[in-house]
Amino acid sequence: MTKEMTNPMSYPYEAPQSQSLFDRASVVTPGGVNSPVRAFRAVGGTPRFMVSGTGPYLTDADGREYVDLVCSWGPMILGHAHPAVIDAVQQAVTRGTSFGTPGQGEVELGEEIVARVAPVEQVRLVSSGTEATMSAIRLARGFTGRAKIVKFAGCYHGHVDALLAAAGSGVATFGLPDTPGVTGAQAGDTIVLPYNDLEAVRQAFAAHAGEIACVITEASPGNMGVVPPLPGFNKGLAELCRANGALFISDEVMTGFRVSKAGWYGLEAANEGWAPDLLTFGKVMGGGFPAAAFGGRADVMGYLAPAGPVYQAGTLSGNPIATAAGLAQLRNCTDEVYATVDRVSAEISGLVGDALTKEGVVHRLQTAGNMFSVFFTDQQVTNYDEAKTQQAYRFNGFFHSMLSQGVYLPPSAYESWFVSASHDERAIERIAAALPAAARAAAQAQPAA
Ligand SMILES: *Cc1c(COP(=O)(O)O)cnc(C)c1O
Repeated sequence: MTKEMTNPMSYPYEAPQSQSLFDRASVVTPGGVNSPVRAFRAVGGTPRFMVSGTGPYLTDADGREYVDLVCSWGPMILGHAHPAVIDAVQQAVTRGTSFGTPGQGEVELGEEIVARVAPVEQVRLVSSGTEATMSAIRLARGFTGRAKIVKFAGCYHGHVDALLAAAGSGVATFGLPDTPGVTGAQAGDTIVLPYNDLEAVRQAFAAHAGEIACVITEASPGNMGVVPPLPGFNKGLAELCRANGALFISDEVMTGFRVSKAGWYGLEAANEGWAPDLLTFGKVMGGGFPAAAFGGRADVMGYLAPAGPVYQAGTLSGNPIATAAGLAQLRNCTDEVYATVDRVSAEISGLVGDALTKEGVVHRLQTAGNMFSVFFTDQQVTNYDEAKTQQAYRFNGFFHSMLSQGVYLPPSAYESWFVSASHDERAIERIAAALPAAARAAAQAQPAA
């Protein structure tokens, strides 16, 4: 069975233990994974089952070590198994794992978030980014008494029914569901617009006067590859929302506490003198545990139960282990850590660009703070349609060459790469050593016939 499921000719080497686990997993769970991108469907081959992580390294079930450039899709900003986080978890876990009552850890994590991100006057803890965006949208609808929401094609906000409408490129088209299981009714109040297109937003507000509850956007998108907002785009969204009585929701699940102490807000809005009404967080703030949050204006947050009428709840919300891990992580995310992550990110993205240039591979590195990704195109990418015009087939060979040399990249050409403060010279040298062959593989890649 193992031999049938992989084609050893297509990939640089086999991974027998991972393959064996994947075979077992495929029996008990659909596609063998608990989140689709992990299955390597975009790049082919056997997903690596990881057994441990330390600093910038992951070790798989076959005992191979990788420099990790996924960092659990963002959370591991201090590196794997950071001593302060592990220590906080070990101390917390000896006191019990869940009480179903309020606890001190929730207060402290809430205070830390409020202290870091000025527009967050109040915050509610949840267990996933999906829950955070879902709840923020319900709150926006409850607060405004309006039904419609605006999102942008290529922005991912978790698997919330109403937000799984990415639609095509048509301006102001109503969202058609992206997936079976989401009904027309669930996506029918979702207006999907092209990213970075303020005029489209202006037209949507004009066409649906008094009907739009909120605009939700990734603070700086990382889920179609890294596609930062053009100058003035987010500010323009905030102004249009205000002028039309809608709320502006900035989804910082990926960027929050990663690109700066105060996330993308700290890099952009704080300097421009405006603020989102609501923000959503996840990933970094959980320290690798399921902790997420949404927060913002106190008058809006006051609409949440039990203070107000909009229902929202969670058995494990503010879980004591998750809040201990998140608090330890945030307290260790100092100015020095962000400076290090920024420097490491610039160094690695520079090496990637140099290697691809040397092999004559058409590419564009796009960055947003310390997040970056490679597009195999010579054009600036400002929205999802443009992202999809890249020569994505080049990524497959690039990815597998890096993997075979012990560098773990996101297994898709449309994902951000993530680094940590633990990526030291040794880790960066290993990446540098792997890049020439990977760039050659990208240069030689042919589009599927
Ligand atoms: C990851 C992500 C989410 C979803 O978070 P989960 O914890 O996976 O549910 C939402 N929004 C953005 C911008 C994300 O990157």
